[in-house]
Amino acid sequence: MSEKKVIPYKIYLEESELPKTWYNVRADMKNKPAPLLNPGTLQPMTAADLAPVFCDELIRQELDNDTREYPIPQEIQDFYKMYRPSPLVRAYCLEQKLQTPAKIYYKFEGNNTSGSHKLNSAIAQAYYAKKQGLKGVTTETGAGQWGTALSMACSYFELDCKVYMVKVSYEQKPFRREVMRTYGASVVPSPSDTTAVGRKILEQFPGTTGSLGCAISEAVEVAVSNPGYRYVLGSVLNQVLLHQSVIGVEAKIAMDKYGVKPDMIIGCAGGGSNLGGLIAPFMGEKLRGEADYQIIAVEPASCPSFTRGRFAYDFCDTGMVCPMAKMYTLGSGFIPAPNHAGGLRYHGMSSILSQLYHDGYMEARAVEQTKVFEAAEQFARVEGILPAPESSHAIRVAIDEALRCKETGEEKTILFGLTGTGYFDMVAYEKYHDGLMTDYIPTDADLEKGFAGIPKIDL
Ligand SMILES: *Cc1c(COP(=O)(O)O)cnc(C)c1O
Repeated sequence: MSEKKVIPYKIYLEESELPKTWYNVRADMKNKPAPLLNPGTLQPMTAADLAPVFCDELIRQELDNDTREYPIPQEIQDFYKMYRPSPLVRAYCLEQKLQTPAKIYYKFEGNNTSGSHKLNSAIAQAYYAKKQGLKGVTTETGAGQWGTALSMACSYFELDCKVYMVKVSYEQKPFRREVMRTYGASVVPSPSDTTAVGRKILEQFPGTTGSLGCAISEAVEVAVSNPGYRYVLGSVLNQVLLHQSVIGVEAKIAMDKYGVKPDMIIGCAGGGSNLGGLIAPFMGEKLRGEADYQIIAVEPASCPSFTRGRFAYDFCDTGMVCPMAKMYTLGSGFIPAPNHAGGLRYHGMSSILSQLYHDGYMEARAVEQTKVFEAAEQFARVEGILPAPESSHAIRVAIDEALRCKETGEEKTILFGLTGTGYFDMVAYEKYHDGLMTDYIPTDADLEKGFAGIPKIDL
């Protein structure tokens, strides 16, 4: 018999209640995400194919569709304890402001120096790199949260860290760069002339403000051409969703403790890691037929991979040096307008989420930027936290759904992922306040240009 408990503003977990395992949702998927393909042979990438690029243990996790639970190594659990559990907050103040009968909860991942959930996977990836005896790792960063998280993780394990930062962010967010350098990372604006692929992109698109796809190509090139280095990625990959499952597992333990079951789970989706992590154990129940949840991915209307993209094998990077993944994609040549979708600017989407979306287990919505900032401000004013623009995509839809409940009188329980804080995004907030923010929505013709670059392969 479960008695009804009063829900506190913040549901914390005791140290003894913290997750000891990550949950691998692939184990419960009937249709597994399609394997990464070797772009040369179109055969599935083997562990040996991937070994020059990625760390060995991470490759094992990437290719493992069967193991349901992964024990979290003790060193990683110990690091997690410095900033986890992340707060699960009942948004009483927001509910009251909206006068909604909905019950709103958010899982706040911004309470660490990276300002986002990215540290959950960064610390895991750095740990496995160190264990393999590597000298360092290379990566790309878009808005800067991943680069910061990885810099923190690398300094903790004394690894060298080379970050290729999308040029538009490098210029808009000089302080992010300094945070990374504080943790000992070297930061290069991408595209750069330090790599062959960067020089080629600069020649083809002079004056380009860069994209995650370009920066990935550069970081991979540096990793494979320097002994003792591997490349690490902060989103999209199966291994990253595995590590990020700590968000959902924690949220579920906390909600179960109070007998709360969300009707609806909402998260922003760039490459899909926070959403994939938040929904993981809930999706597991859904896949096993034990429970049902409405799951909504929210993406920017300026970079609409799910809502307007194609489900196809595509390159993961602009330089086409990475394996191909089957995903919802806008084409690896798609470079979104330089607006402020920040960390949600990637052309593709996690293969796991793509498959789940394709199979009807989740839905997706695209939202416009000014509407996102309107929600961000509304949230900041009542809940106190100044949200990242990325996170505010989820806030937008959570508020929309809460307002819908107000109309219908439904008392739905909404859980959304508040992935981070927006202190480094004040240029974007400034544009919004000054009425200078625009809602760029690509035309069908714009998208066709990106689709034209999707390889035509029959499998
Ligand atoms: C990177 C980032 C995202 C988007 O990445 P996902 O892999 O889709 O989670 C969202 N919010 C914040 C704060 C981020 O740093």
